[in-house]
Amino acid sequence: MAEKKMRFETEVSRLLHIVANSLYSQKEIFLRELISNASDACDRLRYEALTDPDLVADDPDFKVRISVDKEARVLEIADNGIGMNRDALISDLGTIARSGTSAYLEEHADEEGVDLSAIGQFGVGFYSAFMVASDVEVISRRAGEDQAWRWLSDGTGEFTIADGERDGRGTTIRLNLRKGEEEFLEESRLRHIVKTYSDHIALPIVIAAEDGDESINEASALWTRPKKDVTDEQYSEFYRHVGGFDEPWLTIHWHVEGKLEYRNLLFIPSSKPFDLFDPSRKHGIRLYVKRVFITDEAENLVPAWLRFLRGVVDSEDLPLNVSREILQDNPMIAHMRSAIVKRVLTELGKKADKAPDEFTLFWENFGPVIKEGLYEDFENREMILKIVRFHSTTGGDDLISLEEYVGRMKEGQDTIYYISGEDLDAVRRSPQLEGFVAKGIEVLLLTDAVDDFWIPSVGEYEGKPFKSATRAGADLDKISASTADDSEAEDEKFFDDGKVDSLIAMFRLTLNEEVKDVRVSERLTDSVVCLVSDEGDMDLRIERMLKQHNQLEQSFKRILEINPRHPLIVSLAQAVGKDGAGEKVEDAAWLLLDQARIIEGEQVPDPTAFSKRLNSLMATGLPA
Ligand code: ADP
Repeated sequence: MAEKKMRFETEVSRLLHIVANSLYSQKEIFLRELISNASDACDRLRYEALTDPDLVADDPDFKVRISVDKEARVLEIADNGIGMNRDALISDLGTIARSGTSAYLEEHADEEGVDLSAIGQFGVGFYSAFMVASDVEVISRRAGEDQAWRWLSDGTGEFTIADGERDGRGTTIRLNLRKGEEEFLEESRLRHIVKTYSDHIALPIVIAAEDGDESINEASALWTRPKKDVTDEQYSEFYRHVGGFDEPWLTIHWHVEGKLEYRNLLFIPSSKPFDLFDPSRKHGIRLYVKRVFITDEAENLVPAWLRFLRGVVDSEDLPLNVSREILQDNPMIAHMRSAIVKRVLTELGKKADKAPDEFTLFWENFGPVIKEGLYEDFENREMILKIVRFHSTTGGDDLISLEEYVGRMKEGQDTIYYISGEDLDAVRRSPQLEGFVAKGIEVLLLTDAVDDFWIPSVGEYEGKPFKSATRAGADLDKISASTADDSEAEDEKFFDDGKVDSLIAMFRLTLNEEVKDVRVSERLTDSVVCLVSDEGDMDLRIERMLKQHNQLEQSFKRILEINPRHPLIVSLAQAVGKDGAGEKVEDAAWLLLDQARIIEGEQVPDPTAFSKRLNSLMATGLPA
């Protein structure tokens, strides 16, 4: 077939541009990426050969071979893996499969000095070759096919594809090195790079030396080696081989023997992947059976709320010919999953107790995902509740656990109070919290959308119900204040119950259609008014969130609470019944209701009426 010129997908061109222009200091990682791809290609063929052994019969030993031609300034990385046919070369090397990538690049591509370690999460993989090569040639032959193909590009928007020549199956990547990249022609340098970045690769990596091929690495699967024989660097490099793009925050490596035998090497990333909340995102765990890669799409291997995990699970018991479909309902998978979840939660629990600062980093990245487990995974709820952390009114910047919260509950307090909202600062300023703060009663501050789902489904912790601080009947008067002051005695001086009752009666009449009730507040100390929801009605903030997502049409009427100690209320109460006060008190009722709405971040339903009332009030306040 004649040579054909084709354009890269736009995202690829953009990515190539970033890669080529990046000031990335560790150019040598291109070798790691190409070896990683070669190893994956061998893994994939090994799996196919389980059902079609003929595919590998002529050349059964998988390996990656590195060779150089100093004169031609060429570095070659060859594998005898699955190979690519014409279609695969076009689609695999010309497009970016991962969803969400285009959107991310759209946002970040214009920035100066893009951090390649961050875009590493899209698998710049193969394209990193252009950091050191002016031209890259890929000669590949798919296992089981006779025809080889030659793909060629200088990494600037176009590639060509044509017939190629290759003995046997697999892929050869030929790099025509740029000026200044001669170090990658030196055998000792190449050995060092392979040792540093690819020592964990489970198949032999050989280098073509003067006196024949020589194997550089240990070539045993890292996860089968005893923990004491694996260095942190090897773990980190393996983590990158399984898709990590940063350093692992936590590495968990263990071997289970008993009814089932399997080995696990799992990593928790130290930063949040860009597509953590993309519904099509899959977990990053590869399933092996007796060292043979089976799939990275065994959905049931870990629950969705652990979808940030990366690593390997290698079973000794699953049949090698297990079909990927059968994995769905396999009891061994279910067994391993349950053990993996428990182990991960145990390790997280240890970190939370022993290294709270480090745990905070984890929690900021993955806390909202873990919380999904609280309503999705009944079996593990208790264990998850142990590691859930919160901001609170008394915790400052530190995160607290439910255990700590309960330990600090006041005498007479039988409820875990929380308040939810979109951002921490706004939530902290909520007037509904004033009475809690004044009495030293701690309130959990919840700012993740998922909080509004798990709280109603979990309901309580150690017999103590969760209750929103924006709900009526907080019963604050039953709880002992931590600061024994004589504020109550002082209150007596200020407000006269009878008069406040009359004021409330007038407010009720005026706002009859708009609110469910008007009540004296136990929770306000500084603010004049606030809105709360009645027992049994939907929580104020949940209602707002559901409406924002168009999941709720119905509206609940709220209760307006007024602060009887506030000088404004005291004056209004004094005015009730006096000549000509009627209309003014009515206006005040409307203005205060609108004020409560504004503080809640809600719209004022009739801004014109609001402005008129405000104006006339301002006019009366001016000196005559
Ligand atoms: P990633 O490895 O993250 O998928 P790459 O850009 O490195 O991204 O590679 C893109 C795709 O090209 C791979 O998913 C694979 O299908 C194919 N590929 C790359 N190198 C090889 C190879 N040596 N043998 C077979 N296929 C390969």
